[in-house]
Amino acid sequence: MTNSPDTASPHRVLHLHERVLDRNREQASRNRGLFRDRGVVVINVLSAPGSGKTALLERTLTDLKNDVRAAVIVGDLATDNDAQRLCRSGAPIVQITTGTLCHLEADMIARACNELDLDTLDLLFIENVGNLVCPASFDLGESLRVVLTAVTEGEDKPLKYPTLFKTADIAVLTKVELADACGFDCGMVRKNLGAIAPTADIMELSARTGLGLTRWYDRIRGLVHVNT
Ligand code: MG
Ligand code: ZN
Repeated sequence: MTNSPDTASPHRVLHLHERVLDRNREQASRNRGLFRDRGVVVINVLSAPGSGKTALLERTLTDLKNDVRAAVIVGDLATDNDAQRLCRSGAPIVQITTGTLCHLEADMIARACNELDLDTLDLLFIENVGNLVCPASFDLGESLRVVLTAVTEGEDKPLKYPTLFKTADIAVLTKVELADACGFDCGMVRKNLGAIAPTADIMELSARTGLGLTRWYDRIRGLVHVNT
């Protein structure tokens, strides 16, 4: 969110931001009602840029193709590179290009859903804009949140960005095949995640080698099965 210090008092900026969040909450609740009515499980996927959201989703769409009817709404500031990668799976993909906005909002999701036939879907992933800060505040109407952090980012991300990690239903450590090369301490990040998000389910996986994907897929199949 940008503002001009010359024209906007801090109180006014705060007030506007609260109104934006209130409006977003109302739209998110309408989205949630729509998804419930159509029997679609919605997973909001969040992380810093480059943590492997697209890689995990591309592999997931391909591997679950025969079990789960899934689609992705993908948000980026610019380019449709991620949408093009995801399209290779054959799943329906909708790209949202946000321009300068560093997160997705619930009304963008509502509009993007007009391009999908929700009745033909079991599962909708939302790949949020890569950002560990403001996406935390914007409910999109999702069923659950998955927050990714890669071994290449270091062990302290959950401690530095607690607001986002606290909202995670599932915390996924990605690129674990690189852990040794990075001198990454998986035990330490588990400890940090446990302190910040004690109820989150923690998973370690590699979209490249397939390590840990069975648990991820079982969890997804369970969610979709319970819902239908
Ligand atoms: Mg991506
Ligand atoms: Zn933002």
